[in-house]
Amino acid sequence: MDQMTGIPPHAEPHWSGTLYDGTFSPASGGTLIVYEKATGAELAATGLATAEDVTRVTERAAAAQAAWAATPAAERAAILRDVAARLEANWDVAAAWIMRETGGVRPKADFEIFTVAAFFKEAAAMLDEPHYLEVQATGAAHSYAQRVPHGLVGIIAPFNFPLILSMRAVAPALATGNAVLLKPDPQTPISGGLIMAPLFEAAGLPPGLFNVLPGGADVGEALCREPRIRMIAFTGSTAAGRKVGALAGEHLKKTSLELGGKNALIVLPDADLELAVSAASYGAFLHQGQICMASGRILVHEAIADAFAASLAEHAARLPAGDPMSGQVALGPIINQRQAERVHRLVQESMAAGAKLLAGGTPDGLFYPATVLDGVTPGMAVFEEEVFGPVANIVRFSTEDEAVAMANAGQYGLSAGIITADIERAKAVGARIRTGMLHINDQTVVHEPHIPFGGVGSSGNGGRIGGPANWDEFTQWQWVTVKDTPPAYPF
Ligand code: NAD
Repeated sequence: MDQMTGIPPHAEPHWSGTLYDGTFSPASGGTLIVYEKATGAELAATGLATAEDVTRVTERAAAAQAAWAATPAAERAAILRDVAARLEANWDVAAAWIMRETGGVRPKADFEIFTVAAFFKEAAAMLDEPHYLEVQATGAAHSYAQRVPHGLVGIIAPFNFPLILSMRAVAPALATGNAVLLKPDPQTPISGGLIMAPLFEAAGLPPGLFNVLPGGADVGEALCREPRIRMIAFTGSTAAGRKVGALAGEHLKKTSLELGGKNALIVLPDADLELAVSAASYGAFLHQGQICMASGRILVHEAIADAFAASLAEHAARLPAGDPMSGQVALGPIINQRQAERVHRLVQESMAAGAKLLAGGTPDGLFYPATVLDGVTPGMAVFEEEVFGPVANIVRFSTEDEAVAMANAGQYGLSAGIITADIERAKAVGARIRTGMLHINDQTVVHEPHIPFGGVGSSGNGGRIGGPANWDEFTQWQWVTVKDTPPAYPF
């Protein structure tokens, strides 16, 4: 097959029936049809990987990894910086793939590309950080602890921000000397991994280190079972994360689990109303609410709740939904019919339980309008469940204790926001919220390429991904002692 120097704008001929294992090669499970979400048009028929492919690709990855780990850090860093530059040079074509495949609007695609280019620059820069320690050891001339790669890392990613959520693990894993086997979501295998393959090749990454296996849960399970894969980095739902954690745990693998969220945005009575409404609109409706950090509970003090609700409903009514490629919309489609129906069911159930519909609520196929529900209370479906749709749920409170209790209700603890003119008050309230990420005077969807991202409770398993956390996640310590002569032992 011809060498590609950039991301191709069309799937044919390279990606037809193929997975990526250092070259585009046939997958043993046949083909996987990938659709443009807004139109239903067929975008690609990539390969569909199987558990046998995992075994085969693991052989190649294991063969390539040792030499990669021994490659000088400066050479690895140079390749990663080159990947970042090549992604930026292919910006428009990458953006079109993300928009078509995920149903996201252009600013969302731009955010993914910007962030992923930054991940590769960060991954290159992390190699300049100290990752070696002199440690005391009795009788040793030299004793040190050094960071060594796990070897092979399996990465399982979801559909919503496929480029970010795969590459945030791929970049640091490769930087630190691992090889990766990436299983993107079967709805987004192209922007979830395949588009990066030509960039890695052109940057000179040796074959076998970056592998993409488009497929379903069976391929993810095969990664968890494969003995030579020593770490699984999973991003997705809490339900699937529990299964992945259990299976990988059975095989004694290190796991990084980044899971669901039901994030509270608390609006205190002294908040600037228009800024608070704008924040809530962004936090609830961005990418159709299909974000783990989405503002899923908008807790508003009763003194300002009527004015807040009316203004948010006006905002929502001004947000058109449609094909992102038209350039004229704020919201694209929901990822699939099943999920669109689920969003509608949760809205309907909550209305039946007493929630009041102020905007939206009537789907048009996959296009679900920006929807505002007022009078949401604990026990309602939209209060309890992660909706993953463009639904702003306004919950009224009268005391801070009540707001804190409702922010902490349930199993998750990913992100929280507090909007107020009183920063000290916000800090005091924030200290009582069980959350991995807290944003004072912002909504809950906040991400930067270099931060330690993650949640508490059922939003993860206590790890973080990004920035200072990456050494801990993608390497392990090895202790080495050197003695001038072997000691004499008593037996
Ligand atoms: P999902 O759990 O259904 O799928 C995620 C990935 O896991 C996919 O690649 C899927 O094929 C794979 N998978 C599913 N079951 C598996 C199994 N038993 N074994 C191995 N692999 C399996 O999630 P989704 O619906 O695609 O994504 C939405 C969810 O992801 C939401 O809950 C959202 O909050 C969460 N999410 C979390 C973060 C985060 O960083 N915390 C980021 C984005 C999305």
